[in-house]
Amino acid sequence: MTTYSLPPLPYAFDALEPYISSEIMELHHDKHHQAYVDGANRAIEMLKDARAKDDFSNLAALERQLAFNVSGHILHSIFWRNLSPDGGGPPGGGIAIAIERDFGGFTVFEKQLRQTAATIMGSGWAALVWDPVSRRLGTTQIYDHQSNVTQAGVPILVVDAWEHAYYLQYKTRKTDYFAALSNLWDWEDVERRFLRAQELDLELEDVAFVEVAANIASQAPPPGS
Ligand code: MN
Repeated sequence: MTTYSLPPLPYAFDALEPYISSEIMELHHDKHHQAYVDGANRAIEMLKDARAKDDFSNLAALERQLAFNVSGHILHSIFWRNLSPDGGGPPGGGIAIAIERDFGGFTVFEKQLRQTAATIMGSGWAALVWDPVSRRLGTTQIYDHQSNVTQAGVPILVVDAWEHAYYLQYKTRKTDYFAALSNLWDWEDVERRFLRAQELDLELEDVAFVEVAANIASQAPPPGS
């Protein structure tokens, strides 16, 4: 049976200082992220139990627990990989071309992403997503970890806008935290996920008008060139 597991951070707790403190990183990864992994596995066990007992009376609550915890686990797993002590600056490669095409420039994209994060009501995330149906990039707000999600969108870069992600260090200066993340984005990681996302085909060719069907990233020079 599938069980979810906590991936190790790809760098030390203090590697993202001064932008994100070691204390935040340790609590965020070892406590918060771990809790979503445990919650996801617990929900799977409870669903198995419900099937064994033929008792689906609690199914709606279990489905909500599963969606919340699996989504929290996946988003944090992407978030850690999106960040790097050697990151920051504008992207290169196919993701740069796609951002230019779909947002009209990197500066505009950054402004939209930060505003997406800053205007979430309650806890949530901002995300850069690839829509495999219209074959375009877009931003989205995610409430908690799973609500307000546009189906089919694949998250390739995410911003954790929960208070636990910044409050110990930034207090009410939430927008300073979003701005600091610009020093950490690992665009090579985003590019790799963007390439993989473009391989997704949902067999829905007739539900959107697609201007550019070609795989953008395969035509682009590699990041950093
Ligand atoms: Mn978080």
